[in-house]
Amino acid sequence: MNRNDPVEHYDVAIAGGGAIGAVLACALADGGAKALLVDPSFSLAAKTCNESDPETGSAGASTRDRRAPDRSGSFAPGAFTPRPLALSLASWRMLEALDIEKSLTERATPIRSIHISEAGRFGAARLEAGRFDLECFGKVIDAASLGQALDKALGRRDLSPGVQRRSVDSKSSGGVHRIGGRIEGACPLAHGIAPHVVFPNAIGQDPPSIPRSLSHPPPGTRPTPPSERADTPFVASLLAIADGGRSGLRQSLGVATCERTYPQRALATVVSVRTPHPFTAFERFTPEGPVALLPMGGPRYGLVLCASPDRIHRLGTACETDFLAALDSVFGGRMGGFRAADRRRIFDLKLEYARDIIGRRSVSIGNAAHRLHPVAGQGFNLGLRDAACLSQMVMAARSQGRDGGDRQTLFDYRRWRAPDHARTRRFTDGLVRLFGHRFSPIALMRAPGLVAFDLLPGFKRALTRQATGLAGKVPDLALGIRPTPAPSLEGEDDQDLEGSR
Ligand SMILES: Cc1cc2nc3c(=O)[nH]c(=O)nc-3n(C[C@H](O)[C@H](O)[C@H](O)COP(=O)(O)OP(=O)(O)OC[C@H]3O[C@@H](n4cnc5c(N)ncnc54)[C@H](O)[C@@H]3O)c2cc1C
Repeated sequence: MNRNDPVEHYDVAIAGGGAIGAVLACALADGGAKALLVDPSFSLAAKTCNESDPETGSAGASTRDRRAPDRSGSFAPGAFTPRPLALSLASWRMLEALDIEKSLTERATPIRSIHISEAGRFGAARLEAGRFDLECFGKVIDAASLGQALDKALGRRDLSPGVQRRSVDSKSSGGVHRIGGRIEGACPLAHGIAPHVVFPNAIGQDPPSIPRSLSHPPPGTRPTPPSERADTPFVASLLAIADGGRSGLRQSLGVATCERTYPQRALATVVSVRTPHPFTAFERFTPEGPVALLPMGGPRYGLVLCASPDRIHRLGTACETDFLAALDSVFGGRMGGFRAADRRRIFDLKLEYARDIIGRRSVSIGNAAHRLHPVAGQGFNLGLRDAACLSQMVMAARSQGRDGGDRQTLFDYRRWRAPDHARTRRFTDGLVRLFGHRFSPIALMRAPGLVAFDLLPGFKRALTRQATGLAGKVPDLALGIRPTPAPSLEGEDDQDLEGSR
């Protein structure tokens, strides 16, 4: 592609500014890459911003304004709905390496021990971080606080035209350009990919779109020959699909998935207890589904309760007294009684994952690649490892004079991520299945199994590695290694970087 084209060229275009897309954008920027981060929620804020922000001095939304990034940067309520999130040690180290954790530290509570039990049966297991020379297994934060911290982190890496960068490593020429909109398709070009961005204010007008025939070749047909340019203002070397578990983009790009619906829903809230156990997380398996209590400081605990849709509906609509009484019956006297609960939120549960996480100059990450059951709090942590590994691979490609969307980079990324994806899927789905049997011989073996687990350090070590996110080949960010800017390809002769597979 001729770099003099009036299109904006990015190293990576990211569909989805949830936590995973936002962290990927920060990591790329710190490594010297240019990222385009697209999320519809940015435009909601941008609209408000355009109406009232003295910086823009504009109340209208001209075509130009529609492409302007949101400077206020509020996130989608969905992605950062207030709810407890257990971050593994590896995830916390990633946030540290990207300077995202500072504004979170005061609001994060370390998990130093994990208590695992089954309602109505004897036997329990306890994991202590100190026994493995760890300060903690991870930390619990509120998703809303994470959203605010990421917003600040993105602001420091802002690449928007006309915006004074507030503080970015001076060695890095990378940054993040946030725009409000949806990526609804993409057209692979000879040396990049053109995301089809639909701007919300453009309803009733023609978006700068790619013909559907180009972005959606019918199954079984030969791929459309790469064109030299598309009618879109943005081109990237790679498209990262990070638009969450209901990923519409994955679907429109024809990425097949495997899925299994759980006969359960989840209810999440924050509760207060009479007898707190500082820094201890509880995972309790009940006949209806797993229940987690995550320490959030003092008497406050994050609660994630999974049960049949009927029971979740009843618990979600019960008065507070009945709700707290139901929790008492789940946990017995262990917590000394439940005193109060915040707003209860309900989530659908599903196991769904992409059959292939890579495509032509595209890659699925986070929940768009794998939506897991929330038991043992693994989904977000797995997605952060995706973001860390992908940014590392893109940087490695750039330092070798390749772009980050070529075939080799994507194949290497897939090879790296496959074992972690499979292991984490087996772990969460296996737990749900193991504790889902009520009357079989498996059910009878569980209690002695928990006792045996408690006595066998080998099992505990394996579980600790999974809980901390330090199993298998770990990305540099999870080891606390900060990204270093790689040389840019800008100005170099284009090479044949065709990435079809
Ligand atoms: C009850 C519950 C408790 C959980 N607890 C934990 C836990 O303790 N620990 C843990 O590790 N995990 C946990 N998880 C899982 C975790 O919440 C998810 O894995 C994580 O939030 C996924 O983040 P994401 O960025 O991939 O997707 P999302 O958070 O869904 O973000 C997707 C973003 O994409 C945007 N978007 C959508 N469509 C488009 C488009 N076409 N173009 C551009 N943008 C688009 C959306 O606006 C949104 O901002 C829990 C899940 C549940 C349900």
